[in-house]
Amino acid sequence: MSSKLLALLLLVLPLTAAAADPLKTPSKPKNMVIMIGDGMGPAYTSAYRYFKDNPDTEEIEQTVFDRLLAGMASTYPAPVSGYVTDSAAAATALATGHKSYNGAISVDVNKAPLPTLFEKAREAGLATGIAVSSQINHATPAAFLAHNESRKNYDELAKAILDSNAEVLLGGGQKYFDESLLADYRARGYQHFTDIAALDTVSSGKVLGLFAEVQLPWVIDNPEAHQLSRLTAKALEILSQNDKGFVLLVEGSLIDWAGHNNDIVTAMAEMDEFARAIEVVEEFVRTRGDTLMVVTADHNTGGLSIGADDEYLWNAALLRGVKASPDTMAAGIIANEAWQTPLETQLGFTLESDEHQALSRARMQGQDVLGSAIKTIIDKRSYTGWTSGGHTALDVQVFAQGPASGLFIGHQDNTEIAQKMMSLLPKPKKAAVVVEPTAPTVTLSPEAAVSEAAGTDAAKPPVQAQETSQEASLNPETEASQEIEASASAN
Ligand SMILES: [Zn+2]
Repeated sequence: MSSKLLALLLLVLPLTAAAADPLKTPSKPKNMVIMIGDGMGPAYTSAYRYFKDNPDTEEIEQTVFDRLLAGMASTYPAPVSGYVTDSAAAATALATGHKSYNGAISVDVNKAPLPTLFEKAREAGLATGIAVSSQINHATPAAFLAHNESRKNYDELAKAILDSNAEVLLGGGQKYFDESLLADYRARGYQHFTDIAALDTVSSGKVLGLFAEVQLPWVIDNPEAHQLSRLTAKALEILSQNDKGFVLLVEGSLIDWAGHNNDIVTAMAEMDEFARAIEVVEEFVRTRGDTLMVVTADHNTGGLSIGADDEYLWNAALLRGVKASPDTMAAGIIANEAWQTPLETQLGFTLESDEHQALSRARMQGQDVLGSAIKTIIDKRSYTGWTSGGHTALDVQVFAQGPASGLFIGHQDNTEIAQKMMSLLPKPKKAAVVVEPTAPTVTLSPEAAVSEAAGTDAAKPPVQAQETSQEASLNPETEASQEIEASASAN
């Protein structure tokens, strides 16, 4: 985005912010939270509305997504990867403001590292952190924390995340962190946890919490655990100790995994926990008044259709009655000859004879085929459709609340979300300078002066304009040179 456009938007902002929030909000946030529903295309938020509808009332209740909607975002990757993005290219766009190829972890199409929102936040003195339901070295969190030519290099990513120095790392992924790597994290000051309950004992410092071998368990199989929302609340608590502010990434990672599996009941439960995490952040935003939250998806998964088979129907009530994931149901009955009654209890409905026959045949072919057969019955009965086991190029929604949330209204590209958030970071401290035509020549190399400016301690009083021009001229980072830099990097 050009600096002119940004300046214009910032002028308009206080009006929209004031209309949205009765509290007097500043035009720039101190803290920013970006929340990504992986794979959460618009069909997911619509389906979730009907899934959550209270059947005892005539109205269809608003969800948190309806309440916070701001705009839309396109998700296409760099041209070399066509129109359909993967999570790595999309996360690179959201973390760096640049398009790259599918598989890229915050590197450009030439595999050169791209500066990330988190890196820029750290330069400005902000704390950073993530709370996700996948392994923490999975594509989306990895793009905010590291750089790699491939999302598949899980071990390299687990090591590289150490250098992110992010204060809060919460999610799954124990299998990628062996004892020697954990020792490296401890040596950098990280407190290591494998039990969510143990997190209650910590409220500050650096935290590495790995609560599953790979991803966290399906929400539908652990309905009372509320892991993602708990991790989100803990991340906010720890990060808000930094008086310069923070940037937090929260990802509902497994919405996408359920979408790849074409598993509607599991997807709705993952949506429900992501919505709960959003409400935790929304509450923080409303009470504090200094925090911007931006919620979006990286792409759409599965081509979910709310209605199928030419019928004008979608049976949300049936979906609400299902009490376990098809994976878990299949695992539970594969070795159980008396399988019908326990399965019907978990499904919440009685099987027709053709359904019973189909499941009997599937049971003979193993657990995966049985799980698919259960999903087919749920889809048929609920009129849920899918067009793909992969991603689609549909635009996704953008939701926002808090200071500068007006920036996210309307259509934007996913790269612009990162660019807008980066533009809201505090500028590195610099002298307020009056450049005089006769100023002596700069005695520091530009690199040295920039690193000096970045390392400026905030406790130091800001350099006053009345300082001698000689002292001021040591710092070439004038407002003017920054603006030129900003508009050049926007191209
Ligand atoms: Zn995916």
